[in-house]
Amino acid sequence: MASCNVLQERTARPRCRGPAAGRMGGVEERAAAVAPGSGWPGDPAGPGTPVAAGAAEVARLAAGASTVEGLDGLDARVSVCRACARLVGWREEVALTRRAAFADEAYWGRPAPGFGPADARIAVVGLAPAAHGGNRTGRVFTGDRSGDWLFAALHRAGLANQPTSVHAGDGLALLHTRIVAAVRCAPPANKPTPAERDTCRPWLTRELALLAPTLRVLVVLGAFGWQALWPALAGAGLGAIPSPRPPFAHAAEVRVGGLGVLGCYHVSQQNTFTGKLTRPMLRRVFSLARALARTPPAGGRLTARRRRG
Ligand code: SF4
Repeated sequence: MASCNVLQERTARPRCRGPAAGRMGGVEERAAAVAPGSGWPGDPAGPGTPVAAGAAEVARLAAGASTVEGLDGLDARVSVCRACARLVGWREEVALTRRAAFADEAYWGRPAPGFGPADARIAVVGLAPAAHGGNRTGRVFTGDRSGDWLFAALHRAGLANQPTSVHAGDGLALLHTRIVAAVRCAPPANKPTPAERDTCRPWLTRELALLAPTLRVLVVLGAFGWQALWPALAGAGLGAIPSPRPPFAHAAEVRVGGLGVLGCYHVSQQNTFTGKLTRPMLRRVFSLARALARTPPAGGRLTARRRRG
């Protein structure tokens, strides 16, 4: 439970406000996090949502997210998690200080849960929300340059209803696709520690398990997500951890446990500005993902290969 009062007690200063300022409402003072259930578009949580305060509680609450509640219940629990002290401090500090360009907008300041339908056939696995992207808007890859690339590619592949993703109430819907992150809170310098990655893993594991009935393909953006994925897949009962683990590469393709796993350079500005990742390369990955998602599972065999990027 992360009611406004609880957050105030833990932080010793007012930190809960209602919906965002600017286009989504109005606030008079800056807040470190949106109060659960206070009206932010797409907020899956409410005042009674249980809060994980440490690694053991993440594991317990993730495992306890029932198939009846489905992904909605899991999303709610993810979105109020406070298990990693360093990341909680960072995400809330960013929400308080803000980037100048967004100075008149309230920030989400909470973990970004997965986004997309519960019967997705394709899962896109990213690294973590951006400080002024998902941590500001409350939706993964929303409101930053990385998202501009990603959602344009998804739209072109017929996997999103629009090519842009600006804020959580912009009407974007993904088709057959769900976006998840290996780590659900924005990390300083986009670098979570191994301990933070491991603490957050049960959320990913449970999410993959809930998606399992329909899931066919995972598109993994970058080496961090690639490494984080294998134990989560194994924990979800979707396939044994490959040994040796396949190295990450753009256009790498691994089949494991009936799933296709595709590697793709991350849509970070570092990659897109330098031309390491181009729009045609990204389009090819999602075109392949879409094709694989239509094919029946191949069984538990592990095979790996690399296609031309
Ligand atoms: Fe919780 Fe994951 Fe955020 Fe850590 S990174 S606080 S486990 S949501």
